[in-house]
Amino acid sequence: MGNPTGFIDVARQLPEDRDAKERLIDWQEVHEHMSEADIKEQASRCMDCGVPFCMSGKSQYAPAVAGCPVNNLIPEWNDLIYRGRWKEALLRLHKTNNFPEFTGRVCPAPCEGSCVLGINADPVTIKHHEVSIIERGFAEGWVVANPPKQRTGQTVAVIGSGPAGLAAAAQLNSAGHLVTLYERADRIGGLLMYGIPNMKLQKEVVERRVQIMAEEGINFVTHTEVGKDISMQRLADEFDSVVIATGATVPRDLPVLGRNAKGVHFAMEFLTKNTKSLLDSKHEDGAYISAKGKDVVVIGGGDTGTDCVGTSLRHGCNSVIQLEIMPQPPETRLDNNPWPQWPKKLLVDYGQEESIAVQGADPRQYLVMTKKIEQDDNGQVNAVHTIGVEWKKNPEGQMIPYEVAGSEKVYPADLVLLAMGFLGPEGKILDDLGVEKDSRSNAKADYGEFDTSVKGVFACGDARRGQSLIVWAINEGRGAAQAVDQYLMGKTYLPK
Ligand code: FAD
Repeated sequence: MGNPTGFIDVARQLPEDRDAKERLIDWQEVHEHMSEADIKEQASRCMDCGVPFCMSGKSQYAPAVAGCPVNNLIPEWNDLIYRGRWKEALLRLHKTNNFPEFTGRVCPAPCEGSCVLGINADPVTIKHHEVSIIERGFAEGWVVANPPKQRTGQTVAVIGSGPAGLAAAAQLNSAGHLVTLYERADRIGGLLMYGIPNMKLQKEVVERRVQIMAEEGINFVTHTEVGKDISMQRLADEFDSVVIATGATVPRDLPVLGRNAKGVHFAMEFLTKNTKSLLDSKHEDGAYISAKGKDVVVIGGGDTGTDCVGTSLRHGCNSVIQLEIMPQPPETRLDNNPWPQWPKKLLVDYGQEESIAVQGADPRQYLVMTKKIEQDDNGQVNAVHTIGVEWKKNPEGQMIPYEVAGSEKVYPADLVLLAMGFLGPEGKILDDLGVEKDSRSNAKADYGEFDTSVKGVFACGDARRGQSLIVWAINEGRGAAQAVDQYLMGKTYLPK
């Protein structure tokens, strides 16, 4: 700890985000960066605690996991930043995290939720330090391809190029195995590319990393859907091992009257087409669902819904609201959600900030259930009918939503986006090879082992644990790589 009184002397500070109205006219990232001097001062707030909960990533505080799931060596690099030893900070950061440029931008930062300073003060700005270290590394030319010195002669097929597949591929390649990564989309990155919008994560950031991985010897095969363009059996026959990292992208549907009206779409269709058209032609091809001039109703109050709000506002929608069936979270942690758990409290994310700037109000409406989608004579959606709910226990003791009489509302709508979470992975490739599934239809494989019911076939990321976070996908990709290496070589030196 460079400055033993830093946590007393210095207040938490983050760079201002770009002005909410100004950033709506482009698709560039919302967040700004801080000066080196300010970052150094912020790093001095880290107390280098005897027990650094921030890096623990343990689930003993169930249901919430506390600390960083990839066990980033946070106090070490905070100290190195304070001392101006950025290159060493980068080496320590890369030791546990293959892609700090992704987590440093879009991780919800469970590390900050369990920072010891957060017990009675504002936590250290850990996430901003992470992105600052890796961006300094790129700017200085320290992040370069580092191909393995020797090849083992073993081959691995990785299916899916999201953070789990990319982390598994990077680790397996570093161990000397020849990795071929199959992706059905035209671009590499999974939800990093087509899911999370540009204003949260610019796609050059993903492409920059993929380029380095290609230089390190990973063979990327796009436009290839396993189970359709190439069979699972063929991969199992031709490769020494197979890693399934196909994500969990089956969306939860809304079985109400009018669901099939024109103008009702899953959030992922809206977000994916938007990013693809933006990257292909800066939207000139028109191959996206436009919210311009429309009244937009987003059903789902989570992060995917927020991305739909931010995207709709950038299109120039007439209005946008976000409906959520759950109650509004509290302003501060509740007693049953103590430190070091992730604090479940009301957050105003970028999409809500932008809505407040443009519409004068947070777009979220809580405790609202959609009853019906109304359509006009042409089958085009024109309104969403809702009713208020309250959550109470049913006779079996389960909390369920009860409708509140007299709380019916009708919202005008030209575009309805369904963002109510995901049910699990698309099952075909699991079925093709007879990979056993768990009760939630994910590929069945124990955490830490990652091997499925089929010998030599491993599973990781959202395809194994259900829709989660990038940091967990990286953790699982690294863990699966370790398990594959052990399977192929009888021993492994790969870290998790
Ligand atoms: P994915 O990223 O889903 O990648 C799976 C890949 O497999 C896809 O590219 C898919 O095309 C490919 N694939 C599937 N089947 C096949 C096949 N048969 N053949 C070939 N390829 C196939 N997490 C955060 O931490 N922060 C955020 O801000 C955040 N925002 C999000 C916003 C949205 C809109 C969504 C939907 C999720 C968000 N998440 C966020 C969650 C995070 O993106 C995921 O948890 C993470 O990407 C999972 O990684 P993965 O590698 O397991 O799967």
